Amino acid sequence: MKYKCLLCGIEFESDEANPVCPVCGATGDDLVPVTEEESK
Ligand SMILES: [Zn+2]
Repeated sequence: MKYKCLLCGIEFESDEANPVCPVCGATGDDLVPVTEEESK
């Protein structure tokens, strides 16, 4: 699943149940799932 970090603004892929932002280390409510799919 893809997540967006609300603290630093990046988006990243993670399959973890409790993902952690690779940039700032945010977890939980600071991360929101990105559900919209962009057409290729
Ligand atoms: Zn972050």
